[in-house]
Amino acid sequence: MSFSNLGLSTPLQEAISKANYENPSPIQIKAIPAILNKKDVWGLAPTGSGKTAAYVLPILEMFQAKPTVKSRSMPVLVLVPTRELATQVEETVSVFSEFLPRKVKSMAVYGGVSINPQMVNLYGTEILIATPGRLLDLISKNAVDLSELEILILDEADKMLNLGFKEEVDEILSSLPKKRQNILFSATMDEPVEGLTAKLLRHPVRIEI
Ligand code: AMP
Repeated sequence: MSFSNLGLSTPLQEAISKANYENPSPIQIKAIPAILNKKDVWGLAPTGSGKTAAYVLPILEMFQAKPTVKSRSMPVLVLVPTRELATQVEETVSVFSEFLPRKVKSMAVYGGVSINPQMVNLYGTEILIATPGRLLDLISKNAVDLSELEILILDEADKMLNLGFKEEVDEILSSLPKKRQNILFSATMDEPVEGLTAKLLRHPVRIEI
């Protein structure tokens, strides 16, 4: 299987080869076509499986036909449990975006650092990568508007719940528009993750690696 069989356009395929990815990983083979087809996805995949590119690549594809965002209303939100993961996901987006004709503006926001520079830079962000607490702070300061959200990704959902973010996640979910695509990745599955999955996903494509 190669990246040319997954439904990605030539600019994406060129960006992938410039990033030195040769062949798609198993999670990428299954998740990329499903996400391009606008399906909800439930991926059971550990770190190191290539799960980040599995959702970043089809999302960057979607932006190639979209006008740039000129507001504080972002179409894509990636919720992550930690600052480290937020930074890693943002780097993956930036690496591929750099090689694309239509750049995509992404930004990582997390707690433990000053909120003001984040507020200033959020304008025009298209893919927001956020930890739950900081996101709620930014929403309460009107620095982020999620009313136009099209795609929600919950990455490392098990870790999110283990770190005690359930209430924050519930509060964020309740503020989102109902019609949207949802993608959830988790390294493990247990009752709390199943509960979140049942609440969040509609007829998901289920992928286990
Ligand atoms: P992740 O599981 O998303 O944390 O990715 C683990 C590592 O694998 C990252 O350093 C990625 O850049 C790398 N990676 C992901 N997919 C591929 C691929 N298809 N080919 C080569 N490297 C990859």
